[in-house]
Amino acid sequence: MNTHLHIPLTTDHDHPIPVGLPIHEHWRATAEAKGFEITDRVDDRYHLMLRCHSCGGEHRSKLHVLMTSQPLCPHCMEARWRADAEAAGLIWLGRDPDDRHYGFYQAPCGHKLRRQFELVKRIAAGECAHRCERCQHEKEEAEARARGWSLIGPAPTKGPGYRRYRHACGHEQTIARANMQSGRFNCANCGEGWSTAPSFIYCMRFTLPGMASLVKLGFSRNPDSRLNWQLKRSPDLSGQILRSVPICN
Ligand SMILES: [Zn+2]
Ligand SMILES: [Zn+2]
Ligand SMILES: [Zn+2]
Repeated sequence: MNTHLHIPLTTDHDHPIPVGLPIHEHWRATAEAKGFEITDRVDDRYHLMLRCHSCGGEHRSKLHVLMTSQPLCPHCMEARWRADAEAAGLIWLGRDPDDRHYGFYQAPCGHKLRRQFELVKRIAAGECAHRCERCQHEKEEAEARARGWSLIGPAPTKGPGYRRYRHACGHEQTIARANMQSGRFNCANCGEGWSTAPSFIYCMRFTLPGMASLVKLGFSRNPDSRLNWQLKRSPDLSGQILRSVPICN
C-alpha cells in the first residue's frame, strides 16, 4: 500500500460540487474502518468528501483511494508538519506544491527555507541542526571580503571544503575555505598573501571567566587569525591583541 501518494492538497479554496448520488453502505463501512465519514459525493462519480474522525476536517478524496488504500487527512498532516516545524525551531509556511516531500519554513534568522519533511523531523528529534544557506553564504562572503577577495561560489570538483573566489586583482582561484579563514594562501596571479606578508611579534591578552587575565607573547604571520581561528575556540573566552609589531622576513 502506497499511502503517501494520496495526501491531497488542502481543499480550502476548492469548491467541490455535490452531485446527489447515493452513498453505498459498504463504502460507509470502509470509510468508518479507516477513520472517516463520507459526507457527500462530489464533482463526478469518482469523488467523495471525507470527514476525519480525529480532527473533524473534511477533504475531497477519490472513491478509488478510499476503497484501495488508507486515505490521509490533509488537515492532520498539516498539523503534524506544523508541530514538527515548531519542535525544530522553525515556522511552518506550507507545503511545496511541486514536491510532496518538501515544505517551506521560516528560519529564526527570518529567511525562508525549503526543507524535506523527514529532515525537519530529524532536526526536531535533535539528530541534526538546521543551517540557513543564505546566512551561511553571507558569512562566507564576509570572510572573503575581510581578505580582499569575493566569494564566487562552490567548487564542486574540489570538494565541499573548497570555494571559488575572486581576488581584488581580478584573478579567480579555488581556495579551501579553511585557508580563506586563516589567510594561509597566496593569489596565484599577483602573489599577494601569506608568504609575502610580514610576520609579527604579538602580545595578546586572554580573559577566562573567574580567572586572572593571561598574556601570551608569540610570533605569527597573522596574529588576527592566530587569535580568532586558532586560539579563541571557546565563545566565553575573550581575547584581544594588545600590540603587534611587524618584522622583516
Ligand atoms: Zn484530520
Ligand atoms: Zn538565514
Ligand atoms: Zn591577486
